[in-house]
Amino acid sequence: MSGQAPEVPRPAVRPQTDASPAGDLPLAVIGQPGVPFVEIETLRAREFIPAAKEALSSLLKEQAQGKLIRPVFNWAGRNSLFPLHWGLACCAIEFAAAFGARWDAERFGVVPRSSPRQCDLLIVNGTVTWKVAHKLIALYEQMPEPKWAIAMGNCATGGGPFRTAYSVVPGVDKLIPVDVYIAGCPPRPENMLDGILRLEQLIKERGE
Ligand code: SF4
Repeated sequence: MSGQAPEVPRPAVRPQTDASPAGDLPLAVIGQPGVPFVEIETLRAREFIPAAKEALSSLLKEQAQGKLIRPVFNWAGRNSLFPLHWGLACCAIEFAAAFGARWDAERFGVVPRSSPRQCDLLIVNGTVTWKVAHKLIALYEQMPEPKWAIAMGNCATGGGPFRTAYSVVPGVDKLIPVDVYIAGCPPRPENMLDGILRLEQLIKERGE
């Protein structure tokens, strides 16, 4: 005996195939002898491009229907509300306190901005007089869509203790659309945070 192990015959290797979603064309095996590189590329492209086109068109259809992109924008928008950095009266002190270390409103993604063009939330936090009304409307109109408004405190909600005064607007909803009202004179920072969380819920439900 020679001491060498007998040679085991190898099984015949079949070329691997992979049916594409677009058709029954097999994927060529890279390196398979006898298949030129150009042909491999052509075969793969033939399969890949129709599948990619089909996937892209269905994606665009979904996008057009707002199924794909709208929920993402909704989620991102409602968790990063940018209120306008302004104040009208005593309620503005509570607004400012809400962003201090104790209440830390920014942990909810609420970051005040000083330009209405960068804001999507107007928190009306004080007594609105007829003298300031047109400024308030101008600020609201300068904010890009989608945008929301919160009436913070009794004055912004309905005129508060000054409701009967000739100079006071009896509720800011006479000037702009209001989404959430926060009661109190003044409401505490916790109330303001609660109002913001309710607005977030509202935005989620409306799908804006
Ligand atoms: S609701 Fe009360 S605390 Fe707020 S602005 Fe009016 S008077 Fe001031």
